[in-house]
Amino acid sequence: MANKKKRPAVNKFQQEVIEFVKEWKIRLRLQDWDMELVFPAFDFGAIAEVTTSMNSKAAQISFRNPDIHPPQLQGSITHDIEVTVVHELLHIAEAALPSEAKKILQNDPHHEAFIELTAQALVAAKRGVERLPLL
Ligand SMILES: [Zn+2]
Repeated sequence: MANKKKRPAVNKFQQEVIEFVKEWKIRLRLQDWDMELVFPAFDFGAIAEVTTSMNSKAAQISFRNPDIHPPQLQGSITHDIEVTVVHELLHIAEAALPSEAKKILQNDPHHEAFIELTAQALVAAKRGVERLPLL
């Protein structure tokens, strides 16, 4: 007999994301944040995106499922989901910045590159390699 209270099945990709968020939340000292993970069935135009509420220390991170929407990326971005998780968690960490600073950073393309390169460097350090392979 089917259990009606059963949660929707979590696929391999979602399971990986859940595990990496759990791990990096501790590593980046973000344990006090409530992070909701969302896996939309539609393409929202990014690999992932995050919204934060500093007052309630709540964040919602949306991840594009590569099985449904294969990434078409260029440049210095990897397909590595662990890097994507760290990238989004770094955005959560910077939610504590003053709103004026956040406004400036949001409009600066160098800032996004800085976050991505930092995420790549952290994951490379964890894996004991100098750099991660790029596309
Ligand atoms: Zn970003």
